[in-house]
Amino acid sequence: MGRLSRPVRAALTAVAAAAVVVGVIDTGQPPAQASTSDFAVQLVTVDTPTRADKERLQRLGLDLTEHAGHDFVEVVLHSATDADLLRQAGFTWDVRIANLALRTAKVNQINETFAASTATSKLPSGRTSYRTLADYNADMAALAEQRPNIVKQFELPHKTLEGKTVRGIEIGGDVHEAEDGKPVFAIMGLHHAREWPSGELTMEFAYDLVTNYGKSERITNLLDEARVLVIPVTNPDGFEKSINDGLLLDLRELDDGGTVSILGTPGNAYKRKNCRMADGQEPLAGECALASSNGGFGVGIDTNRNYGGLWGGPGASSTFAEATYRGAGPFSEPETQNIRELVSSRQVTTLITNHTFSNLVLRPNGVKPDTIGPDGEPVGQPHDEEALKALGAEMAAQNGYQNIHGWELYDTTGTTEDWSYNTTGGFGYTFEIGEHEFHPPYPDVIDEYLGAGEYEGKGNREAFLIALENAVNAANHSVIAGKAPAGATLRLTKSFATPTWESSISDTIETTMRVGENGKFRWHVNPSTRPVVMDRQYEALAEEPIRSETFTGGLIAPGDHVDHEFRVTESDVDILEVKLDWPTPDDMDLKVFYREQDGSLTEVAKSEQFVATKERALVQHPEQGDYVFRVTNFASATPSYTVTGSLYDSDTNTVPRQLIENYTLSCEKDGQVLEQIPVVVDRGEEVKAKLRRCASRW
Ligand SMILES: [Zn+2]
Repeated sequence: MGRLSRPVRAALTAVAAAAVVVGVIDTGQPPAQASTSDFAVQLVTVDTPTRADKERLQRLGLDLTEHAGHDFVEVVLHSATDADLLRQAGFTWDVRIANLALRTAKVNQINETFAASTATSKLPSGRTSYRTLADYNADMAALAEQRPNIVKQFELPHKTLEGKTVRGIEIGGDVHEAEDGKPVFAIMGLHHAREWPSGELTMEFAYDLVTNYGKSERITNLLDEARVLVIPVTNPDGFEKSINDGLLLDLRELDDGGTVSILGTPGNAYKRKNCRMADGQEPLAGECALASSNGGFGVGIDTNRNYGGLWGGPGASSTFAEATYRGAGPFSEPETQNIRELVSSRQVTTLITNHTFSNLVLRPNGVKPDTIGPDGEPVGQPHDEEALKALGAEMAAQNGYQNIHGWELYDTTGTTEDWSYNTTGGFGYTFEIGEHEFHPPYPDVIDEYLGAGEYEGKGNREAFLIALENAVNAANHSVIAGKAPAGATLRLTKSFATPTWESSISDTIETTMRVGENGKFRWHVNPSTRPVVMDRQYEALAEEPIRSETFTGGLIAPGDHVDHEFRVTESDVDILEVKLDWPTPDDMDLKVFYREQDGSLTEVAKSEQFVATKERALVQHPEQGDYVFRVTNFASATPSYTVTGSLYDSDTNTVPRQLIENYTLSCEKDGQVLEQIPVVVDRGEEVKAKLRRCASRW
């Protein structure tokens, strides 16, 4: 329906959106001086009452944020064309930040005042302002210099499209020794260029670990038991553009000039993607920075849709100019190749990839469990749903975020943990940090890290520590233990086909460790069988309803409605399905209400499809009591209709395990393989590996 009923409101919003920003405006609202040629880039809240609306919105190719609820998604509108698209599709919206350039300028002003009045913040680094790319690189170098025994710098294997080196640090009690089988925790930020706090929190965690080693017993023990990989800026090309332009936006320019200045574009401050200018081509010098019209939104590949896991599926765009463009192929971009090779060469048992914003702890999978996947079966819940959910809940209890699956936000494929979890079995989470915006005032970043209000003393700091504790907890990964000649190199390899949405790619995991002087080894690894080929569960409606009741009705005058009463007497029913059908190809709407004790009606479900689509509404776990099915004639000439209420149990179905996979464990002396054995190890299991031949041939 329904969307069609509100063109007037949408048109008004669009006029306001087209206003020019003149002078310093305290309210953040542009004056009502409309012009069609200037458009202030803005953040809007789009009404999406149904999941179908969300999917339809995704298909428009607009710049969706990660901030969405059950009936809305926040969207960045970069141009009048974006607003037109939204309006023509019949969506309604409210403007939340009318002018993002102005907002960033204002945030800069707040940040300057804060930095000027604060010598050092409570952050582990004491910082009082956002880091630039140079600051990140300098900070990593400084940590390695200050604590050389526990910090090692490393470079990721692929340079960016602009030729930049992507840098990280490894932290651990014995970081300069050869790897000796300790579990690995990885934390990263800034896949998306404009999400500055995602790099800040990643870097602050590194500072926290490094400065507290030897002081805090908990952190000292963790760093003696694990290695931590920190990559604060995975997309330095994009981040550099966003931070450079963002920090330049300055309200005083408008003040001091005394003339009418126009802050028409935030430049690249709200850039999301990398610096790919066209598929398969590298950017010319300066080209990416210049491509800032409409916030640089059209340029680049969404590095968080370019990973190989289920690449090419729902929730990622195949159109270059769109915000979630997945790239020409799985892992086509150096930024994702870097993380792929890092994670494939270490046993990363837990991984966190930081983003902003929406206060979420997201876990796999990225698509709804009943979505039919590339193997022709429902994608299902992740095999380790229970453990993933439990750890997510523990972390969410520290930062106060929601603990949900990726798909509960909206569908995504080709994200970091879509690949890393399904391919390696290492637990993977996306944190969407902060409540309101991509780069809020810096004091908010401090609060997000340390926790504020009821989360004071917890925050993401504590959530990250819990993730690191999970990384070392052998109950949630696997261990291969045994004896081998002192100094031997052990190598664990596994090659397999990782399913993309329509095909597959070859992946290889290859990790090594050195056997210590006592000839015993204990290697913390991920399970040998990948989650993507393990059994997995999904819920489906039982084939037959427990009970059904159909009501028929006649002509309803346009705009009028008729109510039908339906009583649920059964307890413990899983689903109430209400279906509305009519013979003409036009528009009827359906709402379902629960009748409260005082007789008032509470809406519990609705279905307001477009013209000619029939209506279906679902109530999960309906309470016992009376329900009202309200049939509204939105724009229909139908002489009759039927509305059917059906109660269903849902069944938990299982897609069976497809394979048992093994690692190949090699025992090597000076590059020569002395023995090779297959090893099968499950999650939570410790297996003994017997390497007798290696010892006898040593
Ligand atoms: Zn993001």
